[in-house]
Amino acid sequence: MHDRDGDVDGRGGHRDYRIETRSIHAGQDADPETGALMTPVYANSTYEQDAPGDHRGYEYSRTGNPTRTDLEENLASLEGAEYGRAFASGMASINTVLNLLEAGDHVVTGNDVYGGTHRIFTQVYEDYDLEFSFVDMTDLDELEAAFRPETELLWLETPTNPLMSIVDVAGAAEIAHDHDAICAIDNTFATPYLQRPLESGADVVSHSLTKYLGGHSDVVGGALLTNDPDLDERFGFYQNAVGATPGPFDCFLVLRGTKTLPVRMDRHCENARAIAEWLDDHPDVDRVYYPGLESHPGHEVAAEQMDDFGGMLSFELDAALEQVAEVVSTTEVFTLAESLGGVESLIEQPAPMTHAAIPREERLEAGLSDSLIRVSVGIEHVDDLIADLERAIETALG
Ligand SMILES: *Cc1c(COP(=O)(O)O)cnc(C)c1O
Repeated sequence: MHDRDGDVDGRGGHRDYRIETRSIHAGQDADPETGALMTPVYANSTYEQDAPGDHRGYEYSRTGNPTRTDLEENLASLEGAEYGRAFASGMASINTVLNLLEAGDHVVTGNDVYGGTHRIFTQVYEDYDLEFSFVDMTDLDELEAAFRPETELLWLETPTNPLMSIVDVAGAAEIAHDHDAICAIDNTFATPYLQRPLESGADVVSHSLTKYLGGHSDVVGGALLTNDPDLDERFGFYQNAVGATPGPFDCFLVLRGTKTLPVRMDRHCENARAIAEWLDDHPDVDRVYYPGLESHPGHEVAAEQMDDFGGMLSFELDAALEQVAEVVSTTEVFTLAESLGGVESLIEQPAPMTHAAIPREERLEAGLSDSLIRVSVGIEHVDDLIADLERAIETALG
C-alpha cells in the first residue's frame, strides 16, 4: 500500500480484493498530506535528511522515488507478488535478471522468444561467456534435455511472439527447480489479468510495461516481480547499481494504464477471438495462430493456465510476399507499426520488422515464415477491424 515513509512492506494489503479492484487501488492510497487521489508525480532527484543518514525513506531517486514505489506496489499486487521493481524498459528488466549470472553459466530458453531478448542473449551476453540454448519450449522433454550442470536460468515466454506457442509453465518451472535453476518468465503478452506464473511455480515474472500494462502506446517501461526476498534484494541492488530506472512521469503513466487493464483486456480478448475466427474461415488465409482456437496445438494448456487467450494473433495468407507487404501497408484502422498492447490495433510483418534481428535460417526453423502477419488487436469496434482487414486483403490479392 501507499506509504510515504518509503516502507515497501505491506504490498499484500489489497490481496483479499479481486484484480479489478486491486488494479485501481493497490499502491494508490490518497496522498496523506493533501488528499490528492492520484499518485503525485514526484519530479525530484534528492531528498532532505534530518541528520546525516537520517532520511524519511528516500535519499536519491535512482535508488527510490515515491511515484515509482506506488507503481511497484501496484504491479506486485497484480501479479500476486510480495515484491516488485520497476525499470526503464522491458529490456532493462530482462538485463537485470541476466545480471544475476556469472561467466560460464548456461541459460535454457525458447527458439521463438522476443527478438530483443534473443538479441541481448546472443549479441551482448554471449560476449560475457554466458551460453544459451534455444529450444522448442512446447516440448518439455526437449526443454529438459537442454539442461546442463551449469544451467542457472530457464527463461520462458508464453504465449510466444509471434507464433503464440504455449508453454506449460508449471511443468517447465518444475524442470528448472529439479535442476536448481531459476525459472523466469516474460509475462508481457498475457498480463497478470490472464496469467499469474508465480502461482504456477515461476520464481520471477518480467514485464514490458510498454505493452498492455501501460496500454496506450505512450510510455516505455519494465518490471520484475517475485516472492523471493533474496532475489528482490539483488534486483534492487542492480536497479540502483546499473541505474536503468524509470522517471516519475513514466511511472505515473503506467499507473494510469493499469487502472483499466481488466476492462481493456476483456475487449482485447473478445475482439481477437472474433478476428481469429473470421480469419480461420477466410479462403485466402492458410493458417491462423491464436491459442483460443481449438485447432491451436497449445489450446488445451492455454485453457488450463490462462483465464482468456489474449489480444495477439498471427496469420499466413496464401499470397506472394509483395501482396503480404501490401496488405499490412493498406489497412486504415490497423496501423503498420511495431509494438503491441495499446488500445489501438497494430499490424506488422515480423520477418523484416520485429524479428529482423534473428537470422533468417533460425527464423524459418522456428516456423516463422517471411509472409507471416502479426496483429495486436485493439479495443476499437470489432466490425470496423474485420472490415478493414477484409478491404486490405481484397485490395492486395485482387
Ligand atoms: C516489447 C517486449 C519486450 C521489451 O520491452 P521494451 O519495453 O520494449 O524494452 C520484452 N518482451 C516482450 C515479450 C515484449 O513484447
